[in-house]
Order: sequence, then structure tokens, then C-alpha cells
Amino acid sequence: MFWESDDNREPVLLSFSYLQQHVNNITLPSGWSLLSSATEFRFSQVEFIGDVSKIVRCVMVGEDLNWRVKVHGRDLLNSHYIFNNIPPTVTDFEVLNKLITVISQCNICMGNTDPSFIELLLSRGGEIVKAFSFSCEKDVSAYIEEDLHAKAKDGKVYHSTIRTTDCLLIADKIRCTKCSSYRNNLRSLLSRRKSQDQVCKIQTGSRVNLRYLDKVQLKERAVNLQKEKIALKRTLDRTVKRLISDDGVFVEKSLQSDFKSIMEDNCGEVIKCFPEDSFQRLFWEEQLKHARCADSRQMRWHPTIIRWCLFLRFKSSTAYEALKNSGFVKLPSQRTLRDYSNYIKPEPGINHHVLKELVSEVNGKTNAVKYVALLHDELKIKQDLVYDKYTGELVGFINLGHINNELAKLEKYGNCKNTKGPELASHILVLMVRDLASNFQMSVSYHPTDSCRADHLFPIIWNTISYLEVSCVMVHPGIGNFIGCTES
Ligand SMILES: [Zn+2]
Repeated sequence: MFWESDDNREPVLLSFSYLQQHVNNITLPSGWSLLSSATEFRFSQVEFIGDVSKIVRCVMVGEDLNWRVKVHGRDLLNSHYIFNNIPPTVTDFEVLNKLITVISQCNICMGNTDPSFIELLLSRGGEIVKAFSFSCEKDVSAYIEEDLHAKAKDGKVYHSTIRTTDCLLIADKIRCTKCSSYRNNLRSLLSRRKSQDQVCKIQTGSRVNLRYLDKVQLKERAVNLQKEKIALKRTLDRTVKRLISDDGVFVEKSLQSDFKSIMEDNCGEVIKCFPEDSFQRLFWEEQLKHARCADSRQMRWHPTIIRWCLFLRFKSSTAYEALKNSGFVKLPSQRTLRDYSNYIKPEPGINHHVLKELVSEVNGKTNAVKYVALLHDELKIKQDLVYDKYTGELVGFINLGHINNELAKLEKYGNCKNTKGPELASHILVLMVRDLASNFQMSVSYHPTDSCRADHLFPIIWNTISYLEVSCVMVHPGIGNFIGCTES
């Protein structure tokens, strides 16, 4: 197309520079304004929302005179039917006028403005994600459009709307065919959420206050609670039985009847202390039930129950005396008693109390006394239970206190479904100092192990030696083992 130039009256091709010179001659519809740069013209319809202004429709013409149209911030396809009679390049002012008129008069798809849908999308982060690609990119099917203060075809102003990602933006009706058919998806999503809410309300873990529930829902919630309670009781039952069968030990007949009588005597107190269905109560009752059986010879006693029985009995000192005299638990010699009375609190690693004792023992004596041998041995242990290693008889327990802590620990361990629980030490490595000149001996450190190898032993022994040497006790180079030494 040629254009008449004002100056020399010769026909010229409409160029970008010509457009720059004459653009102000174009009459824009009301509410439209022009923004021009060295490379582009933008004819925009601007809406004022409070302090912010937003561009609703925009026609852009580039240096190459090709045009683009944006509606609500999104590109409109040039192939859209409303552009059927408009060439893709601005060949004269008439094309530009036509384009601006078409865009300013067309109806923008309203999307879905229903508050219930908006609320649904807001609860899902403002968009509906169809799927995620392998590279974690979202495939969004619909989104909430920001406030554009837009007017629907019926004149209603809407502030936010839900558009599908393939929204046609321009529509003959109130909304485009894509957004119109997407309403069904939104409806089904909404009804699915409503039914989920309904289920949530009657679930036992629901946080919905009871006063918001109707009679039927209240009844269902109560039924569910009852079911859950029964299931939990069954699980707890199984846990208790498993613990007893896994860790239980057999005791001799006289000890068995003593434990039984302790349980009978203290049953009332335990019932008072622990509520029905509590782990402690179930544990206690399970053992008592078996103890009461006519044939309880093959009964396994869980170490914690045995300790519990002893704890109950030890609470009264007169009972303790009677117990000791009856010989029901063998605490045979003063030495054993001393070992388990925790005069020096046993703790893994170097025992500093023992070290202090050792220093006071050798202090002021001749140098010969200060030479000691360090012995080590590994002993097999079973969860705080102490056996006479010659007769296999139950002697006592390393620790009788904190029975409630132990029960709580046992309950926690019993609830670990996936594993056997924390790895327990099966052996104790003991390091003992024996004087070479006189006859005293002391165990200076112990370390719980599951199997002690040479590379474990090495740092432990050198660490102990360094402690001893610092305490002015000379360790003789020869390190011997106890009888039945560790192979490593
Ligand atoms: Zn649409």
C-alpha cells in the first residue's frame, strides 16, 4: 500500500517512522492511551484499581509493523476468528483503527467467578495442577486471575476469576467454550472436597468441634472411636505378648511362687495407679493371668515384671529383711550386695569414682605398689539381669530404681513395629587393675558391646592406660586377660 506524503506528494510505503510522525492523528476509544518507544507502539486500555493501574487490553505494533494483542496480560492468538478480516501487518491507518476497534469492543471471557470455586482454588495454592513432569515442571490446568477490575458481558464487575490455561480469552457468550466446559471439573472437585470434609468430621482424629456435627455425624464419630479403641487394645495385647515371649525368662519354682504372691499382694495398688487399657496395666495383667494358671511351670517372666515385683517388695525395709532371710532372691554374700547396691554408680567408660579410690589407695605408698597390671575380659549379659555364671541361677539386678521409666521405655520399644528395637549390648567389656605387689584389684571401666574386635579394644585400652598414668599409677607393659579371655 502506498501513502501520500504531505511534503512532496509522492506515494510512500507506510513505514514505522511514518507511523511515529502521524500516530497522534489516531482517535483512540475512551479509556485507551498510547505509549510509544523507539521500537514499539502500545495502545492500551487501562483500569484503575485503587492506587494501581492495570492494562486490560493492549495492541502492540513493532518496528516490522507486525502487531500483537494482549488481553488480561495474555497473548491472543492471531489466528483467532475476530481477526479474520485484519491483515497481520499494519499496512495503513485503517488497519490499525480496525484492530483497536475490534479489541476494544470484543467481549472478554469472564472465566469462573463463583466464590466457592475461588475458595477451592485458593485452598490449593491458586491453581489446579494436572501433573508434574519428570523435571518437576507443573502442568497447570486452571489458575486464578489477579484482580483486573474487569466487566462481564452483563455489566457485572468481577475481581478475580478462574481461567483454564487454554482459555480463548475472547468469547461471544459470557465465557469461552474452554472455561465453560471446565465448570464441570470444578464442580466435581468441589463435591469431592465436600465429601472428604464430611468423612473428616466423623473420623476419630478430626479437629472439627463436636458442636458443628449433626446427630448422625456424632453417632458415627462415636462408633469410629469405639472401633479404634478395640483395635488399639488388640495391638497393645499383641505387643505385650510379643515382649514376654521374646525377652521372658524361666525362673525356678520357688522364685516363681514368690513372684506370684508379690503380684497378688500388690495387684490392688497397680490397678489404682494405672488406668485400664494402659500399657502398664495390660503388661501386669498378662503376667498375672499366666502366673495364676494351674500349670505355670513353663511360664516366661519378663525381666521388667521381675524387677517390678522386687521394686514393690523393696519399698518396705521390713519386707526387704524378710525377703533376704527367706532367701527368695539370692543376694548371697556381702560382696554381691555391695556390687548391686550402687555405692559407686556404675556407668559405661572410665569410672572416675573408682579412679579416685585407686589414687587414694596408692597414695603415700612405695613405688612398687604403684605398678599395676591392666586386665580385660568380655562377659555375656542379658538386659540388666545378673546370673550366677556357674549355676545359671538368677542373682539379682544391676538397677532396681526407676521402674516407671523402664516401663515407659519398654512400651516405646514395644510400639516399634518395623524393627526389633534399639540394638542392645550383648556383652560387657571390663577393664580391671590388679596390683602387682599387694593384692588389691578394681574394675576401672566397662563398655557395653555387641562383639568386641581388636580395633575396638585398642583405643579403649590405651585410653584407660593414659588415665591411669596421669593418676600416677604405672601400668606394667604386659596386659593379661582374665580366665576365658577374648580371642581378639
Ligand atoms: Zn475462557
